[in-house]
Amino acid sequence: MRRFLIPFLALAFVILMPRTAFPWGNAPTHFSIGNDLANNHKYSILPATDSPQLFIRANACPDLAWTQTFKNAGLSYIHTLAFADALYYVALEAGNSNWITIAHGYGAHIAADNTVHTTLLANVDEPIHSLVEVSIDTIIYYNGTPIDHSKKHPAWKKINVGIDACDPDLFNRASSRYKADTDYTVPTIQWWNMQFAVLELASSIAAEYTYHELKGNTDLSEAYLQSLVIQGVLPGPWEPVYQDSLDAAEIWIDFHY
Ligand SMILES: [Zn+2]
Repeated sequence: MRRFLIPFLALAFVILMPRTAFPWGNAPTHFSIGNDLANNHKYSILPATDSPQLFIRANACPDLAWTQTFKNAGLSYIHTLAFADALYYVALEAGNSNWITIAHGYGAHIAADNTVHTTLLANVDEPIHSLVEVSIDTIIYYNGTPIDHSKKHPAWKKINVGIDACDPDLFNRASSRYKADTDYTVPTIQWWNMQFAVLELASSIAAEYTYHELKGNTDLSEAYLQSLVIQGVLPGPWEPVYQDSLDAAEIWIDFHY
């Protein structure tokens, strides 16, 4: 029974997620990218003024783009490098160090997503696309990342987004800047968009943690990813792409120091 129950749960989970596609899964993959960048990566270039905890949690904010709230309001344009730039320059001009930290987490997410999107998942459509991401989330949840096996279940369950990590005032100002610089047709982000969307994203992350718990271990996720590599659906294992994503994120932060 368990054999059939788990794939069913996986599919139900992916279909019910309030999103189209999160290139790297959110929970905990984006938090683990943030954690590796803050604490473990070979260069570890996070500025000393950045709070590691805030940086790690802000890594999830770009996927506000795929919440129903943001999709309905026409705000999915935030999942772009141009919006990450807008956040950074608004933060810099305001001289607000928390905002700069949030912008660093935000840009790290976009840079990492762009890497996985143009390599591992370049030719993988839904629903397999999301199933791959959730499988990688599951493996990181239980085993840690390819470069750090110390952080794993149940440490991840304590990490989630919140309104402090995706500051509404910062996002509102960045959307005005994006509108002025990049695309005058887009709506700006209002505080109520943020209030609803952050809750939505946080609850989808909490749901994903619960789902990993239900799976109980990484067996099915590893077998699934392996079968996709054998079938040629995936070009190879995900671990090297994870490391490339860290490199891409670091380059982005380096340019926005
Ligand atoms: Zn994303």
